[in-house]
Amino acid sequence: MDPLPIVLPDPSLVVLIGAAGAGKSTFAARHFAPHAVLSSDGFRAIVGGDPADQRATRPAFAALHRALERRLAGGLLTVVDATSVTSRARRTLLARATAARVPAIGIVLDLPPDIVRARNRARDGRAAIPDEAVTAQLADLARTIEWEGAAGWPGFAAVHLLRSPAEVDRVLVRREAASR
Ligand code: ATP
Ligand code: MG
Repeated sequence: MDPLPIVLPDPSLVVLIGAAGAGKSTFAARHFAPHAVLSSDGFRAIVGGDPADQRATRPAFAALHRALERRLAGGLLTVVDATSVTSRARRTLLARATAARVPAIGIVLDLPPDIVRARNRARDGRAAIPDEAVTAQLADLARTIEWEGAAGWPGFAAVHLLRSPAEVDRVLVRREAASR
């Protein structure tokens, strides 16, 4: 299988975008060092003890944003592993990249809904997200791709769309030192 290169400026902010079950955390673990990845589930667990506790969402994102700000200010490539399917969620992340003067790169896991739902239900190690929530996330994602894609993904230096498990598995991430 031919590799599918994704070149990432280093430093940069890498925003994973995809519904619950799309494979964001699996992708992040495959391609990045653990400390380069700030995950919303991880921060829910850090601040509230439970990665699936949605009540911890607000403090979790506050802590995630603090860590993100520090890492970007320190010139460290950072991956945000959260669904980021709403423009509001992306806007706050893009503002951090702008403030740190680093490019933002999107990696969109736009897999067939049936696969995403099946993976969400069958996930290991964590409770599944309710099916209705995944449905809403998939709708947000479809709108994102239609609107932001048509507008050229404003705020992002580049966006990579991955549309099948085979495409995701072919990805080869390469970092390139950014001239600053
Ligand atoms: P969430 O937003 O809920 O954290 P996620 O996008 O991080 O979801 P993962 O936890 O990475 O999704 O993956 C969901 C399930 O799908 C897991 O059980 C995982 O093992 C499986 N999966 C993810 N990526 C792949 C892959 N490339 N090949 C096979 N199975 C995968
Ligand atoms: Mg995850």
